Order: sequence, then C-alpha cells, then structure tokens
Amino acid sequence: MPDRAPRLGDVIDDYCPTCRLLLNHDVTSLFGDDVAKVTCRTCHNTHDYRHAQVPAKRRAGKKEDKKSLIEQVLASMPKPPEPPPVPPSAPGTGRKRDLWAEVERIRSQKKDSRD
Ligand SMILES: [Zn+2]
Repeated sequence: MPDRAPRLGDVIDDYCPTCRLLLNHDVTSLFGDDVAKVTCRTCHNTHDYRHAQVPAKRRAGKKEDKKSLIEQVLASMPKPPEPPPVPPSAPGTGRKRDLWAEVERIRSQKKDSRD
C-alpha cells in the first residue's frame, strides 16, 4: 500500500517537545502534502511537525561544561595576595636579624595577651 498523503486529523507519531517523548499526535495543519503542525494527544500542545525526530540530547558535552564551569568559578575567585616584596638586606646593618627578633617579639606579645 503506497503512502498516502497525510490528512487533517490523522494520528501520527511525533516528538512532543513538552512531553519530551515520541507520542501520538493529531495532524492539525498541513503544508501541501506535508504535515506542518501536530497536536500532542497527551498534553494537547500544538507544535511544528518534527518528522518524529527526537532531538539529539545535549548531554554530550555536559562533563566538559561542568569542568569549564568549575574552571570559571576558580577563575572568578580572587587570587591570594602577592607576598610583600622582601626588602633587600643591606650588608652590614643586621636588618635580617632584627626582623627575626621583631617577629619573635610580636609572637611573644601575642601569646602573652592571649593567655
Ligand atoms: Zn505532549
């Protein structure tokens, strides 16, 4: 039996974008001999006839998207502040030693105030 042209009211399978399933549809609009619009018999949503084509799932790049999202988040995070430049130790001043002494003094002060 040769394919006959679809007619209004025919029930055909098509992909419903609302139900996201291949479901029975009523032919509600024709363009020449082609189905133009169909109405889902499940949710009664009228949409363009998709020739029963289930759209390709967009899951393919999901992992990459997720990764890039994390990268984006990481990129958007503030970077730790740059350490202050170490002052060049002038020879003969003993400045480095004084600094360490100062650090020790501050440490002991903090300890004292905390206890
Ligand atoms: Zn539907």
